[in-house]
Amino acid sequence: MATPLEALAHFYHQLDAALARFEADQPVFGCPAECCECCAQLSPFLMSLVEYEYLCAYARRHLAREERQRIRAQAQELALAYQFATVVQAEEKPALRERLPLQRCPLLNDQGRCLVYPARPLACRMYGRTLFTQGPEAGRFNGCTILSEQANLAAGGKVKMHSADSLRQQLLNLNVAVRNEGGTVAFNTLVKFLAELGFAGTEADLTRHFSGVAFRAGHKGWWDGF
Ligand code: SF4
Ligand code: SF4
Repeated sequence: MATPLEALAHFYHQLDAALARFEADQPVFGCPAECCECCAQLSPFLMSLVEYEYLCAYARRHLAREERQRIRAQAQELALAYQFATVVQAEEKPALRERLPLQRCPLLNDQGRCLVYPARPLACRMYGRTLFTQGPEAGRFNGCTILSEQANLAAGGKVKMHSADSLRQQLLNLNVAVRNEGGTVAFNTLVKFLAELGFAGTEADLTRHFSGVAFRAGHKGWWDGF
């Protein structure tokens, strides 16, 4: 049976292949060369623990210790700009989301490249090319202004996009499997994950850090079910 990280790797592989097919079919959703605006002006987003562990494993293998220290120091500064609870509320309320401070992702280097690109979270992979199809956000384009303007110019704006809900549901199912196997399940924001755990979290660290932010009954977000 696949480990959670292996299952996530498989999920990312399938998703990347689907997005490549989608972009070949809908070139209007290709990002302009050298653009990194979404990483440089980042609205804080949620990611799950299994994604964070995957990202850490990649960073430990590929980034020098000094680079990881620089990332963590930058994340600690940024993490003071917002609270987890605020981001959770903003996930459900677009008006609140727009008021969150924009930040440069600590994982973006000075040349505008993502330092963990092969291990970037789901939110980064699906940004700009997906549509929410269920719930109160149905119809909301999950994307940047650059791609939405390109899409509006093409085919009268009637291009078919991936379902963000379906991708999130797949990630949710994976996290449920992690929990059912006895693993720790939690969500946090990318920046706060980096700030609180750096790249060296053990299972004991994870449990201690996330006892306060792991799932509470009553949330209505896409992470429901934990
Ligand atoms: S998603 Fe939008 S902001 Fe991000 S790289 Fe592509 S075009 Fe640029
Ligand atoms: S993890 Fe990488 S792709 Fe995601 S916001 Fe940061 S720099 Fe951009």
